[in-house]
Amino acid sequence: MKNIYVKIKWFIKEEWKLYVFMFFLLVSISLISLLPARVLGGAIDTIISGGITNTSLATLVGALILLPLTRYLLSMVYNYLMNVEGQKLAYKLRKNYLDHLFKMDSKFYETYKKGDLISRVTNDLDAITTAATSLLEGIVFNFGVIIIAILIMGTTISWELTLVSVTIMPIGLTILNKIRYNKRKYTKIHREIYADMTEKVLESVEGMKVIRAYVQEENDLKKQYEAIDKDIESWRYIVNYENWFNPLFEIIYGLSYFLAFAYGTYLIINQAITVGELITFVSYIGMLLSPIISVSTIFSQINNATISVDRYDEILQAIPEVHDESDSLPIIKFNQIDFINVTFKYPFDKMPVIKNIDFSIINGQTIGIVGPTGAGKSTLIRQLLREFNTTSGEIFIDNVPIHDYKINDVRNLVGYVPQEHMLFKKAVDENILVGNPRARLEDLDKAVKIADFEKDIMYLTDGLHTMVGEAGTTLSGGQKQRLSIARALIKDPQILILDDSLSAVDAKTEENIIGHLKESRSGKTNIIIAHRFSAIQDADQILVLEKGVITQRGTHTELLKQEGWYKQQYIQQITMK
Ligand code: ADP
Repeated sequence: MKNIYVKIKWFIKEEWKLYVFMFFLLVSISLISLLPARVLGGAIDTIISGGITNTSLATLVGALILLPLTRYLLSMVYNYLMNVEGQKLAYKLRKNYLDHLFKMDSKFYETYKKGDLISRVTNDLDAITTAATSLLEGIVFNFGVIIIAILIMGTTISWELTLVSVTIMPIGLTILNKIRYNKRKYTKIHREIYADMTEKVLESVEGMKVIRAYVQEENDLKKQYEAIDKDIESWRYIVNYENWFNPLFEIIYGLSYFLAFAYGTYLIINQAITVGELITFVSYIGMLLSPIISVSTIFSQINNATISVDRYDEILQAIPEVHDESDSLPIIKFNQIDFINVTFKYPFDKMPVIKNIDFSIINGQTIGIVGPTGAGKSTLIRQLLREFNTTSGEIFIDNVPIHDYKINDVRNLVGYVPQEHMLFKKAVDENILVGNPRARLEDLDKAVKIADFEKDIMYLTDGLHTMVGEAGTTLSGGQKQRLSIARALIKDPQILILDDSLSAVDAKTEENIIGHLKESRSGKTNIIIAHRFSAIQDADQILVLEKGVITQRGTHTELLKQEGWYKQQYIQQITMK
């Protein structure tokens, strides 16, 4: 319980005035809830003794109407405030979580699955919010009712009777809490299984087209059913635990009633209490049931929330390996970038993907990178995006290690067109403007022209305002590539990286784009990874990457004079034409 409060202390500090107000509301509600039984008991005794008058009857009826009404109004105010606070807390927790996710590096995203990250910000976060909001009610109201009821029972009716009938309740409560505490480990396992199931559903939704194309629906559904079965199985354990406690507790509670009746009747016979008092007393015993169960439920909610707080906090405590320092340097342009003996291994791989890479990018140059698929071309060039730290060796920008610069500044130097195109569910122009939301209309036109996307616009129903379906379903592969190129170009970046971004366009379109780039980006740096040699043959420097190692470098003419992969592939490509 402390754990939750420590984690949301900042929120309570911000909202303390309202919490104090809510506290008093709850105390008032608990008091008002208990008064009718006392009034009724008194009334019965007056009726039995024959002392009832019209005035006292009217007062009694008035009290019995007014008290529940007041309780209802106060509860309404309380529930409203509690919901507002709950929403506010959920919003802030969610915001902190998302802010943090944006700070995380690629290693983090390789460690945590998407489904897991989603379930932490939905399921777990809901559990935290519920516990945090119901906690106040649970503790103040329920404990309030329990304590005030016991006090009224003890002081105004009989301490002896109270002791006999109520002492048994804590025993029941302790057993109940013990069972629920043991349930915790199953809840934890269940959370993990649930995250796994979310991941599977996500994967299927994302991969629906492929699943359908290969008629794999049945296999996929089988996987889903397995995940659902596992989820139900783990949930069953939890429900079983709950089933254990309910009857057990009710038996103990029934015993309490029995003792109150038996001993209460004995006290009436001995004229120690009146009939009205016993009726009030038994009503109070009845009223204790719900708060006692609630208190226990709240403990169980807190248990669940403790697991959720840990899961939520684990993400918030994660520190990205790639992060800024307080003295990180700004950079807005560069003269030269040097890769010195750079080796890189993905965090969960055994072997490095690129090894001992040495080369320089001089501002204004166009660099071509070629090589077999899987050679490490993307990995090599993505080092400039600061997704990971290099495993060994160093990248220098103007003689300063790349990690001494602000991460976002380095990323801002680059306009990267990835192999896999991510299109958002927005209009085409809005998708392009992701590259530079502040771009002017003429910049948009220019980017569209250079990317050779202009000719596609007239085929789109609403031109540039056409909505792109989820994951870009309304555009062809080539159109998506060109849109992505326009997105990078609208940024007018110092370094444009085309990572195999011309693979889905025909030779003529490729020629157009390369021609436009030559014109519009003269004096700027371009790095082109390509399979077709036509895209890179005018580059100032071409690197051939094989199995993570640079095996050849030079201009197109120089490379054709050497024996090696470049010449072999070039001959193959021109003979195939
Ligand atoms: P290329 O661009 O030359 O086709 P890549 O750089 O994409 O090559 O991939 C090089 C190797 O690195 C491949 O074996 C690929 O499986 C591996 N690889 C790529 N991305 C990751 C990743 N995120 N984690 C682990 N291995 C990866």
